[in-house]
Formats: sequence, C-alpha cells, structure tokens
Amino acid sequence: KAFCRYSTAAALEEPIQPPVKVQETQLLIDGKFVDAASGKTFPTLDPRTGDVIAHVAEGETEDINRAVGAARKAFDEGPWPKMAAYERQRILLRFADLLEKHNDELAALETWDNGKPYEQSAKIEVPMLVRLFRYYAGWADKIHGLTVPADGPFHVQTLHEPIGVAGQIIPWNFPLLMYAWKVGPALACGNTVVMKTAEQTPLSALYASKLLHEAGLPPGVLNVVSGFGPTAGAALASHMDVDKLAFTGSTDTGKVVLQLAAKSNLKTVTLELGGKSPFIVCEDADIDQAVELAHFALFFNQGQCCCAGSRTYVHEQVYDEFIEKAKARAMKRSVGDPFKVGIEQGPQIDSEQFEKILRYIRSGVENGATLETGGERFGTKGYYIKPTVFSNVKDEMLIAKDEIFGPVQSILKFKDLDEVIQRANATAYGLAAGVFTKNLDTANTLTRALRAGTIWINCFDIFDAAIPFGGYKMSGQGREKGVYSLKNYLQVKAVVTSLKNPAWL
Ligand code: NAD
Repeated sequence: KAFCRYSTAAALEEPIQPPVKVQETQLLIDGKFVDAASGKTFPTLDPRTGDVIAHVAEGETEDINRAVGAARKAFDEGPWPKMAAYERQRILLRFADLLEKHNDELAALETWDNGKPYEQSAKIEVPMLVRLFRYYAGWADKIHGLTVPADGPFHVQTLHEPIGVAGQIIPWNFPLLMYAWKVGPALACGNTVVMKTAEQTPLSALYASKLLHEAGLPPGVLNVVSGFGPTAGAALASHMDVDKLAFTGSTDTGKVVLQLAAKSNLKTVTLELGGKSPFIVCEDADIDQAVELAHFALFFNQGQCCCAGSRTYVHEQVYDEFIEKAKARAMKRSVGDPFKVGIEQGPQIDSEQFEKILRYIRSGVENGATLETGGERFGTKGYYIKPTVFSNVKDEMLIAKDEIFGPVQSILKFKDLDEVIQRANATAYGLAAGVFTKNLDTANTLTRALRAGTIWINCFDIFDAAIPFGGYKMSGQGREKGVYSLKNYLQVKAVVTSLKNPAWL
C-alpha cells in the first residue's frame, strides 16, 4: 500500500538525533533549579521509540509546599505586584525576545518530548508563544479600574488587583502553548505562579522558565514543579495558600480539581477541558476545500487537540464524494519521524494513549462503522498510528461520543440543518465547532444554534493571542487568551469615599 509519502516503517527504526541537548531537569523553586525534597526522579520518554530522554525531578507535596511558600513570599513581600507595570512589561517583552532567539532549541525540546512535527513546533507553536507573551506584555500597563456613579455623596472607584498566588496545571498536548496561556496573563496582572506541568512533557517549560529568569523575573514569581497529578497536582489544587487555580486537562480530572479547590479554601477555578467538536460540511461547500479543512481539523497534532473536529457531519448530497476524498487525503498523510522535513504526523504521546486509540478503533469496527483506511499501528517501534477514517458512523457509537484524542476521523451523514444542529449539540461537551458553507444564512443560523465556545466558519484552529478560548457545558468554565483571561487573574476592589465629612452629617 502506498500509505505514506515520506517515511517507511523501516525509516522509523533509526530516529533522527534531536538537534538539542536536554536543558533543565530539576524543579524551579524560588528562582533556583533544585532536586525534589525526596530526591526522586521520573523518566520522560521519547514517543518515537519509548526510550528515556532524561530523568526529571519528581515533585510531590513537600515540593509544592516549598513552591507555594516561595510564590506567597514573592507576592506578599516581593517586588512583582508592587513593581511599576511598565517594568513588568519590559521583563515580559525581554522574555519574548529570548524565546524568539531560542526558537529552534525550544521547538526541538518540544518535539522530542511530545512527538509533534518539528516544523509545527518551530514555525507555528514557538512563534505563537512569542506572540502571546508580547500580547500580554502589552496589557501589563493597561489594567485599571473604573469610576462608578453612586446614589449619594460618594466617590466610588474600583481597583483591579492581582489575586495572589496562582496554581496552574497543564496537559501534554501543547506543553509550551498551555504554559503561555496561563503564565502570560497571570504575570501581566502581577500575580505569582506555581505551575505543575504534565508528567509526559516536563522539559520545554523548565527551559522556557530559565529564559524568563534571564529576562529579569524576580525569584519566586514563577515556580515550576514537574510531577504527577494525584501527588503534585492534587497538592497544588488543595493548597490553602493558593488563591486561584487554572486547570487544563480532561473533564474527569477537572471535576477532581474543582472538588479539591472547594474542599480546601474555595480558591477560584477556571477549567479548560475536553471536547468532541462537530465539523459541519454543508451541501454548498467546495468539497476539495472542505475535505482538506476537515482533515486538518481532526489530524492536526496527531489528533491530540481538545477542540479536534472529531465528528465530521457531511450533508447527504455530497457525502459519497466527501468520503472518497477524505480517505484519499488521509492515505496521503505523511507519517514518520517528526524531526524529518515534510512530516505531517508523528507518534502519539505514550503507550497509554496509543493503546486507548487502538481500542477505540476496534470498537468502531465492532459497532459497524466502515473502516475506510488506517486502523492500525504504523511501523514497529514507538507510538505511531496510521491515519484512520471511519464512514457510516452513528451518533450512538463510542467513536462518535468519546474524546479519542488520536488520528481517527469519524464521518457522519446528515439531511438538513435542524437535524444537524440537534445532533451536533447532543453531547456533554461544548468546546468548538467548525462550519463549512458558502451560504451566509446557514453560517449565521449555525453560529447561533451551536452550543460551543468557539465557532470557526470556513476555517479551523485559528488561535491568535487575542481570541478568547473556552468551553460551554462540560468543556470548561471561563475563558483563556485575549482580554477575557485578565479577568481570571484580577480581583475587583470597590473603594467608596464619602464626599461629606463626617459622612453621617
Ligand atoms: P489529564 O486530565 O490526565 O491531565 C492534565 C493535567 O492534570 C496533568 O498535568 C496531570 O498530571 C494533572 N492531573 C491528573 N490527575 C490529577 C489530580 N488528581 N489532581 C490534580 N492534577 C491532576 O489530561 P491529559 O491526558 O494530560 O490531557 C488531555 C486532556 O486535556 C484532553 O481531555 C483534552 O481535551 C484536554 N485539553 C483541553 C484543552 C482546552 O483548552 N480545553 C487544551 C488542551 C487539552
């Protein structure tokens, strides 16, 4: 089978040497890289082979306590929240410059630890990181309260103050971008941070944070603890001295951290969770373009996107043509070593995800969906999966209901708009939706009817720093990015001053 344009299974046996050395592997606490209190480490693996890249310090409760202590001190006593806003801005801008300078090393670390194509890391993700920090640097000196009218002789103003210590927990699918979405607004608003990275991908955030200190960040303002969810993550979510928790990950874990926050000190929580986003192809669509965009919406990042267009609804008039073309496009997808030029798809993150995806593929076959292409491992080493397309998928099948988080496209047929709106909304999730049509009325109708935090019309995965992102229903609470994210990291204080003295006269 001419499955893949660039790689053969044999080529995967000898992975390319990543063009970077492992940088930091210790915990970052109070401005210093230190071992875990227990001295423990855990291996982080190369998804291309399953080999160990490095052993990384494993933070647990005691390390979270140390990190929160440092962040607390930096907030209560340190210069950060009290610093002139333009000084904070200059540090964030210097950081963005350093990220840009070290673009290729950061990209290589990201690809090595995560398996995503190097070209994607180097040309899309690190540049987005730079852009995001510049965007939030721009906000740092534009945060201010309001003057508010009052009934009576009072002058009323609001102060917008940083919340305090922000605990942040991120997943492995976009390690640097998730770091940026959280650290950028938190620091711009004057908070201090304890970040818990994903156990699968600890390396890039440690290196980026080293650069942030080179840019002039005072010690204790950002602390990074690598480690596991039930230990380090849970300790952070339930810490009494953490004032705000921002979490990105699965819906199940989101429920756990929300409970931990509620049971401890009622810290405010924002959640960015899972999705099962519909991608709707209407009968008036240019089929070639729709096929390409639907392919991108699902397969980008090995299908490991919270907002992946993982339910492709196609109008019955164009369904057969769409299936043929979607299958041909998937068969042309270049799978292989993510460091190789021209590769579109690398390995899945780890053996757990790899096995889970293969289980979903088996369930699709068993439930009667038509396997058009793919459906099995690619190569013999690492966690590669062939781009997979199912047609004749029904809403009640597991592959149409669960978040697979892999390169598996499920194509469903629909007849009319009312029907597709009802079916697209019949999910516990509400993160995003794609609409492909030339008809403005159809686009407007779907935009308003679909219950999702983002609607992409004739585009998908547009993630500018200024565009808010977040979920309806069980896809989350709150919004990240843009001006909306500032709200997550600010308290509002009302200051009421009597204009008479004394007031009761
Ligand atoms: P996950 O929920 O397993 O893990 C996410 C993070 O939570 C990790 O850092 C993990 O260590 C930590 N964690 C796990 N158990 C914990 C616990 N008991 N207490 C505290 N922390 C804990 O998710 P994942 O598999 O790493 O990531 C994939 C999921 O993330 C998918 O569901 C995806 O949709 C979602 N995601 C959502 C967005 C978004 O913006 N909505 C973005 C990226 C990923």
